[in-house]
Amino acid sequence: MPETHLLVVSGDRREAADGTTRDVIAPATGAPFATVAQAGPADVEAAVAAAHGAFAEGQGAWPRTSATERGRVLARVAALLRERADAVAELEATGAGHPIGDARWEVEAAARTFEYYAGFANKHLGSTIPVMDGGIALTLREPVGVCALIVPWNFPLLIASWKVAPALACGNPIILKPASLTPLTALVLGDLLVEAGVPAEAVHVLAGPGAQLGDLLVGDPRVAKVGFTGETATGAHILRQSADTITRVTLELGGKSASVVFADADVERAAAATPMAVFGNAGQDCCARSRILVERPAYDAFVAAFAAATDRVVVGEPLDPATEMGPMVSAGQRQTSLDYLDIGSGEGARRVCGGEVLDRPGFYLSPAVVADVDNSMRIAREEIFGPVASVIPFDDEDDAVRIANDSDYGLSGSLWTGSATRAVRVAKRLRTGSLSVNSHSSVRVETPFGGMKRSGLGRELGPAAMDHYSEIRTVHFAED
Ligand code: NDP
Repeated sequence: MPETHLLVVSGDRREAADGTTRDVIAPATGAPFATVAQAGPADVEAAVAAAHGAFAEGQGAWPRTSATERGRVLARVAALLRERADAVAELEATGAGHPIGDARWEVEAAARTFEYYAGFANKHLGSTIPVMDGGIALTLREPVGVCALIVPWNFPLLIASWKVAPALACGNPIILKPASLTPLTALVLGDLLVEAGVPAEAVHVLAGPGAQLGDLLVGDPRVAKVGFTGETATGAHILRQSADTITRVTLELGGKSASVVFADADVERAAAATPMAVFGNAGQDCCARSRILVERPAYDAFVAAFAAATDRVVVGEPLDPATEMGPMVSAGQRQTSLDYLDIGSGEGARRVCGGEVLDRPGFYLSPAVVADVDNSMRIAREEIFGPVASVIPFDDEDDAVRIANDSDYGLSGSLWTGSATRAVRVAKRLRTGSLSVNSHSSVRVETPFGGMKRSGLGRELGPAAMDHYSEIRTVHFAED
């Protein structure tokens, strides 16, 4: 009998008001391994009312807790995550299909996120401003109010931590809404927040159907801020829903990031690093370098080396420490990748390797390299969110920049070159929120992260997140 995981409402574990539950499927087996309570309107009302009461126009227990003490509480969250790291990582690996090594890294990265914002809580400073009419003008940083934090299934705990930690550091109550496919580690995080000392009324984690809960949360005037990560279409819907109430919104959305490899780069190194840049988390990564642009003189050598490195990726059970790529999150997500592989073949692209459904239970798909892709093809334009890499040739610097920027998205990207001056020139022209030169890493807790164009609105991580979870108020003291 699978274990039932309850909602977190006002820091307490409870069943859904109407008793609804849903199975949680393990991607490695395709079978249920847990059930989870499903929040409905009554649970949303209970959470929003409690969170709104906990904020109390900035006079509630958490917003009035000193910033230093809030920091101490967040540091305890980081410590608790590390203390329970093995169990949390195993739950994430089982529920999301992540290789256990990756899942351990994600728990540690979530702990570092809480640590970073623990240190930031009492260093989020206002300013004094010289003004023409005399007196003293200063700014105050104040919490924004109830924050609804809606997260996807691809990095369930990590992406939750990117929102929860700065929201709490600023003094806001939170309502966390995990994805229906992967709700379990978010619920555990809710327990840890309360154990660390966040007031119970400020902590709510509501698993349940996104379209319904999302509309209830986003449209509620008591919710001041929505932090969302997910599909661009869902983000656009949230933006529309938030218009009447002028709810503050940050959106982290889709991507179709380019890795641009010039012939003057260390092409072998670039090719060896590329598989995990696009097939990490089975390609279900908004920063996946799913378009790989290679300068023509290096093109054939790159494709051969990249395909050879891809064939060496160890696809296997999430809990096996040797595994580098686990299953996809669901049968539907795998089918989307298979459909795009067919679309690519129909468009004239050449499958070099991979794209096979593995003959075993679960949602496994071998990583696929597709070459001779033109940037006008659908596989180059649309986010696949699976282990499918499109390799595109280019002629020169201008051509590379033109192709890389010819996308609705602008989240992340890489640039591989041996020339420092070219690195500077091209980096300045690429329209992406993050860019890595001669590496594939995109995200650091200390630096802002987010998208240009349809990849998002606002920035997470770094100091920028503190601005998005607070309001700046100006107070002027007259001197006569
Ligand atoms: P979705 O947009 O479908 O879902 C994301 C979250 O939103 C889930 O919790 C979902 O709940 C909820 N949701 C669904 N419908 C609504 C709605 N109408 N209103 C409010 N919330 C809703 O995205 P996926 O889960 O499929 O995530 C994959 C996407 O996330 C990819 O496109 C990817 O690029 C993007 N992403 C972006 C990142 C970034 O930082 N830019 C990082 C990671 C992923 P439920 O699960 O119950 O449907």
